[in-house]
Amino acid sequence: MEHPISQFIVEYFNWVFLGILALNLFQRRQGRKAQKKRFATLYLAIGVFIIYTFSNMLLYFKLSEWFLAPFGAAVVVGAYLLRKWLFPFRLRCASCSKTLTFEQMIYRDDNLCDDCAPKPEEESAAVEQQEESVDEEPEQIVDRDDQR
Ligand SMILES: [Zn+2]
Repeated sequence: MEHPISQFIVEYFNWVFLGILALNLFQRRQGRKAQKKRFATLYLAIGVFIIYTFSNMLLYFKLSEWFLAPFGAAVVVGAYLLRKWLFPFRLRCASCSKTLTFEQMIYRDDNLCDDCAPKPEEESAAVEQQEESVDEEPEQIVDRDDQR
């Protein structure tokens, strides 16, 4: 085989791409608590698609596989620079270092285990409080104007 790496990528990376997209669809159901990770899987899927397309082009134009070396280096550097957005996933709880389950790893932006995570009621209460405080601000400004 003249192009073992490109052929491997072209053969298997479309499945990786579809797998990441499927994960992204599952994350969509979780709403805003998995927002960062939802974008991360989207960016990763785009990255895999770019690698797939590049390998396919090498095969199509029968170019030397050595082109993969600078391209691969660029991908590694890019992934490192963008690691904050591409890899927000953690294996362990951000608070107690307990190993996270697959669901917690994929769905929770805050990387907390069930013990450390706020209860669902508290979480929605916190969101409501935030929304209320945003509503309150204009009123306070009006009050101050009245006092003058
Ligand atoms: Zn924990």
